[in-house]
Amino acid sequence: MRVAGTSDLEALAARIADCTACPRLVASRHAAAETGPGPYWARPVPGFGDPGARVHVLGLATAPHGGNRTGRAFTGNPTADTLVAALHRAGLADRPTSRHAGDGLRLQGAWMASAVRCPPPDHRPTRAERAACAGWLTAELAALPDVAVLLCLGRLAWEAACDWGGVRPRARFAHGAEHVLTGGPRPGLRLLASYHPSPQNTRSRRLTPGMLDAVIARAVAAASPDP
Ligand code: SF4
Repeated sequence: MRVAGTSDLEALAARIADCTACPRLVASRHAAAETGPGPYWARPVPGFGDPGARVHVLGLATAPHGGNRTGRAFTGNPTADTLVAALHRAGLADRPTSRHAGDGLRLQGAWMASAVRCPPPDHRPTRAERAACAGWLTAELAALPDVAVLLCLGRLAWEAACDWGGVRPRARFAHGAEHVLTGGPRPGLRLLASYHPSPQNTRSRRLTPGMLDAVIARAVAAASPDP
């Protein structure tokens, strides 16, 4: 196992949290903080998880009242509860909830982050904002050398991953779609798509717990170092 030093990831997290590259998103992370009961983190949200992760769970953008409030990826909103409960069922999380940054949650073999680390208005980052933040994904993955699968939550996260990975034309999105990068920042990395575990998708049963469990199981199997 080639696990990067935790200090590398901590130093990177500090650099990410200080980023002000996107003026519109700097404004929106503070605007979101003013609409909810405080306190809010209101800074870019670094990834979170196990430095030895083999599966990286990628969302499109930080949630305004989830990660932007709590300062931890996929924490403190209904999407986080759905995702982390599934990671727990898969043995990748030590508990089924992700409530706040001090709740003691530990991931085993998994990492969670968003392609865009600040909350864009209407959850729609611009192409330039996605491009600006792509460097943080590259840097974080460089510090996570064992990651073999990028599990992309939702079509927009999938498209962000395709663009980041230099996939031209973009591979078609579908729940369960796969594409292995042949170039870009991480050749050999496998992209795997899932419907987003949003309340809208889970309430409508577009994404059932069984479907989420199955796609996470596929990610774990594909990322396994054992043949
Ligand atoms: S979205 Fe990314 S690049 Fe833009 S300010 Fe936030 S952390 Fe920086």
